[in-house]
Amino acid sequence: MASFNPKDVRIPNSHFIGGKAINSRETINVLRPSDGQAYASLSIADVDLVDQAVENAWQAFKQSDWASRSPRDRAKTMKRWAALIEADVNTLAPLEAIGSTRPIAAAAQWDIPFCAEGIRFFSEYADKCGGEVIPTANGSLGMTITEPYGVIGAIAPWNFPLVMASWKIAPAMTAGNAVVLKPSEMTPFSVVRLAELAIEAGIPPGIFNVVQGDGRVGEAICRHPRISKVTFTGSTKTGALIMTACAQTGTKPVTLELGGKSPQLVFDDIKNIDKVARRIAGAITTNAGQVCVAGSRLLVQKGIADQLVTRISELFSDMVSGPTWQNSSTLSPIISARELERIDGVVQRTVQQGGEILVGGCRLHEQGQSAFYQPTILTKVNMSMEAVRDEIFGPVLCVETFETDDDALQLACHPSYGLSAGVHTADLNRAMRMVNELEAGTVWVNRYGRSWDFAIPTGGFKGSGIGKDLGRYAYEANQKVKSVLIDFANDGA
Ligand code: NAD
Repeated sequence: MASFNPKDVRIPNSHFIGGKAINSRETINVLRPSDGQAYASLSIADVDLVDQAVENAWQAFKQSDWASRSPRDRAKTMKRWAALIEADVNTLAPLEAIGSTRPIAAAAQWDIPFCAEGIRFFSEYADKCGGEVIPTANGSLGMTITEPYGVIGAIAPWNFPLVMASWKIAPAMTAGNAVVLKPSEMTPFSVVRLAELAIEAGIPPGIFNVVQGDGRVGEAICRHPRISKVTFTGSTKTGALIMTACAQTGTKPVTLELGGKSPQLVFDDIKNIDKVARRIAGAITTNAGQVCVAGSRLLVQKGIADQLVTRISELFSDMVSGPTWQNSSTLSPIISARELERIDGVVQRTVQQGGEILVGGCRLHEQGQSAFYQPTILTKVNMSMEAVRDEIFGPVLCVETFETDDDALQLACHPSYGLSAGVHTADLNRAMRMVNELEAGTVWVNRYGRSWDFAIPTGGFKGSGIGKDLGRYAYEANQKVKSVLIDFANDGA
């Protein structure tokens, strides 16, 4: 898609409740990550407005035909919504790009079609995931029935605003639930356009609501008595707060997709160093490393380390930084000045602790641009350093070397995260040993990054989360299971 002028973009800066755009009194300025300029003001919800959104959702769940209409018809409506989203790319892609870290070319070619296709994928489960008949000991009829929860609270992060939101709302709505979504206060607007299109597609008003605001609004959603389940994507720290709030207010079930610190294990039997270097570089520079599954730790076998790292450095220098509304930009900005500061702080402290910067290690705005961080390689690092231990969420690759397979596994083991890992080797037996022993929710072998196969579930082990997004498990997590036993012999007695 062509470059665009940010002034030409209409910003739907409202909540969306009961099928209508609603504004509230308190507002905050929202900044563009590309240049730090305020470009719109956002209405912030208070507790009463959260209550209004949840009540609207509850009434729509009880009174509209959404939950009771035939699953096939619900699926058709969801598909209509997906088609409208795809057809709206000229509105949605600039809206996504202006206020997020997604360059316009990526937003148009990936985020918008991927959001639509995710909705289409989940719609197909509508009539395929029911209960089952279970044999019982005394000849009674035993069965399970699946039911929607009612109103599901969805809380989303800023890094892929539309895609992350769609992974939450699509399975929830297809299963017959109503949803109250809170996007990140840093990237709040594009999902409001989704809500407008939902009404156009024939989804009853109140089934999909958006409330705007910061963590306080998220907490109010989690604590609301009419919310029956919470699905969250964001940091491990916030995930713990959400789990606590849900535990304290009715033991609500949670799906938590959290942070990671994912290792990439590269063995010296690889056949094509250039190809692997591209994969490793892509896994830490996509969205400037602001990706939950960013391959932020390179563990490479000693014999090929220098060659591989040199090639990755060259690829890093090919990245083109520039505002997200220019279609030549390939390096995303960092979401905020605060995050930029934090990333640089980790890099500089690592140097003080004995680490070395091989390339990068500085803000690009020191060279005349704002909000960008130069793709960086850190060496002489280890697990005692925050750069290796903590999620940096920026384009910073930590490199460590190993000699044996056992060493590789030992280095890869992280004390708290277990989101994903990459294994790059020509030896299938070695790959399978790594797959079996790595503590990660997803292991990619000779590829990296989301497979973009919606049927493959994604979700972390340990501090990286509970439950799955995508795949059948993600759909089923939006349904309650009721058990039924019918004793025919007793005949009503
Ligand atoms: P964050 O945890 O700061 O915020 C996420 C959302 O939670 C935002 O909407 C925020 O307003 C809200 N929130 C904050 N405090 C809250 C509270 N007390 N109660 C309820 N809601 C609250 O995360 P972020 O900075 O927006 O996103 C980056 C993080 O998300 C990274 O850690 C990244 O790894 C993670 N992430 C994980 C996945 C995954 O699939 N595992 C995908 C994308 C991002």
